[in-house]
Amino acid sequence: MADLIDRIKGNMSERLRLARNKNRLEDFLGKNCGFSICARILGERAYANNNYLIKNLCKNNDICDLLYNEGEIKDNLYKKLVKMPHTYRKKSMPYSNPKSVFQYSEEPDNVNGLNPSQLLRVWIIMESLEKQEFVNHVGRLIEDNLKDPYTEHGGLVLFGNDMLKLYNVESRFAKKKDIRYKGTYKMPFKASSIQNIAKYHFHASKEDCSEYAGPSQGFPLIGGDLASALCETILDNESHHVIATKLNGQRFNIDYFGCEAVWNNNQKKGNTAEYPQIVLDLGNYEYGK
Ligand SMILES: [Zn+2]
Repeated sequence: MADLIDRIKGNMSERLRLARNKNRLEDFLGKNCGFSICARILGERAYANNNYLIKNLCKNNDICDLLYNEGEIKDNLYKKLVKMPHTYRKKSMPYSNPKSVFQYSEEPDNVNGLNPSQLLRVWIIMESLEKQEFVNHVGRLIEDNLKDPYTEHGGLVLFGNDMLKLYNVESRFAKKKDIRYKGTYKMPFKASSIQNIAKYHFHASKEDCSEYAGPSQGFPLIGGDLASALCETILDNESHHVIATKLNGQRFNIDYFGCEAVWNNNQKKGNTAEYPQIVLDLGNYEYGK
């Protein structure tokens, strides 16, 4: 009997904890969600993706406890990142404005500019990158891409068993097997609606892609990683991306970049939005160890 009571008590406290964690995650992710009707209509996919995070993280007491102190997460993340080797992008793509080469910074300081839905994603990606098994998993997919002369590989960052997993989705251009399309990953529309943590793609067209580490800038509707993310955010309210770049040897560099609409509810002009973008270098990693 005492056993049974203990079990019921245990179940109850477990359920209370889950409910508390769920509330905490909703509060944390919802803070910046935009109060306007536009944000709610446009943000359907972002909402589904954030729910995917809530569903998968509410059992993780460590992460949920951390959410009570956003400053501490940023601090920890910054401390991790400053200690790591990084590869910052050196080259623009041909269609980027040559006069504006690298207006973006990817330094650890940018941690302070991450909003909650970006910060939570970066945190769990960094936690996964601390596992050699995950680094090897990314490395294997990069090696696959290196052997494919036709297209960049990419897909979705999903929750796996005890680490994240990259789920490969063939590019819209892959079937054309046309060397001219090399370099651009385009996710099929259908796959964009699968719930995910972020989208990813590789820069792995040759042994050493370090010049092209991180997102290319580009122009809206023409192409380029940052420009495409901006277009995506206009439709979806939020976008989250990861790029892993092949470095010399069995190494890669990884960047997170995100964009989220910030809605201003202006009585005279109606709803207006701004689309700040942020890039953060998450470090260099060695696979195959
Ligand atoms: Zn790219």
